[in-house]
Amino acid sequence: MTQKKEPFYLTTAIAYTSGRPHIGNTYEIILSDAIARFKRAQGYDVFFQTGTDEHGVKIEEKAKAAGVSPQEFVDGVAAQIKSNWDLMNTSYDYFVRTTDDYHVKEVQSIFKRLYDQGDIYKGTYEGWYCTPCESFWTESQLVDGCCPDCGRPVKKAKEEAYFFNMQKYADRLIKYIEDHPDFIQPESRKNEMLNNFLRPGLQDLCVSRTSFTWGVPVDFDPKHVVYVWIDALSNYITTLGYHANGESDEKFNKYWPATHIIGKDILRFHTIYWPIILMALDLPLPKKVFGHPWLLTGSDKMSKSKGNVIYAEDLVAHFGVDAVRYYCLHEMPFAQDGTITWELMIERINSDLANILGNLVSRTIAMSNKYFGGLVTNPNVCEAVDEELKACALETKKKVEAKMEELRVGDALDEVFTLLRRTNKYIDETMPWVLAKDESKQDRLATVLYNLLESIRISAVLLHSFLPETAEK
Ligand SMILES: [Zn+2]
Repeated sequence: MTQKKEPFYLTTAIAYTSGRPHIGNTYEIILSDAIARFKRAQGYDVFFQTGTDEHGVKIEEKAKAAGVSPQEFVDGVAAQIKSNWDLMNTSYDYFVRTTDDYHVKEVQSIFKRLYDQGDIYKGTYEGWYCTPCESFWTESQLVDGCCPDCGRPVKKAKEEAYFFNMQKYADRLIKYIEDHPDFIQPESRKNEMLNNFLRPGLQDLCVSRTSFTWGVPVDFDPKHVVYVWIDALSNYITTLGYHANGESDEKFNKYWPATHIIGKDILRFHTIYWPIILMALDLPLPKKVFGHPWLLTGSDKMSKSKGNVIYAEDLVAHFGVDAVRYYCLHEMPFAQDGTITWELMIERINSDLANILGNLVSRTIAMSNKYFGGLVTNPNVCEAVDEELKACALETKKKVEAKMEELRVGDALDEVFTLLRRTNKYIDETMPWVLAKDESKQDRLATVLYNLLESIRISAVLLHSFLPETAEK
């Protein structure tokens, strides 16, 4: 085939470098990796990007507390995050860091262009200010009227800031979302964005700060740093060689727009702020923004203060990489939060990976070795029971593809295990050990083992995007 491969640009959100990632943070890269691998197997020209969001007051404070410079601090955490992604055998093509020179420079150009064309203006930011934290909070962020970070009292304060005129683009965005039903996934979240935020009217977005310095300086007004939105969100285009002033690189024209995989908590930034920034830059909007649910421990969000944090490294040390990938991909529903505990994980590994997959493979290989010295041919002595297995195997491929198209990764994985279960049942139905005792049934025995091996081969091909090492073994 000389046909040109269709480009597919997939991104995760960039991880905030405030501390070591736990399995709840690692889930997203595993999910995205399964999608990227599957698209590659389908013949797409995939560019899969992940990385780290490294600016902001929190990092400035953490670095200070650790007695290092912010750059040293983020260098350490970014390395930790990258090695965690590598541990999970994820096949990203590029790892962006928002402290990279080219990104900083391009963010400045984007900010300047938006200012020059009148989308950004200078005004006054008013909010609740926590002096020890040097942070502004909105009314809704306060906890019992106090700072959500340190719990101390806050006071009303003002600072000079740049604002983005969001309302100018709101109607266009509402129409876009209504005309593109696939744009926000899962669909339930689409209505939340429209009804809770867009239709009631958008406030102008504060896009700079003067209360801290660890960020991208506004080059034409250097006491300001670019606040998170324009800095972090732009990573999706700066890495492809987008240039706000002039020609963008070929790579950008080839891969943009992206499919974004993000956590449901940052959906608003990706389906409202980001599309509006893109509209202002006269760029196409993302193809799809999928806000995945959270992985919880029990019914709680993981947090250090609750002492319920589970780390990927510890899970991998006990169970291996693919078992952790399997658990995260399979146990995470499409729209509702999933749960991880050590007990649940052991249960799932025993029932699925050991009993269904492991057992099938080891029984089939043992019989192939015992009866045919490991070399099984297909004499085609078929019986009615074979047809059902064949139909199931052929159907599975189509079903997996359909589920993956909808990003229902857990359901896709489940389809493969339905085939594996059906194949285990085929062993019980055909009873190869009984056939083996009958000299006249040798060709039937070979056919049965051939069908088993073929079914395992098809499963392995389909499993490759989810459990790469296991599938190869
Ligand atoms: Zn505070």
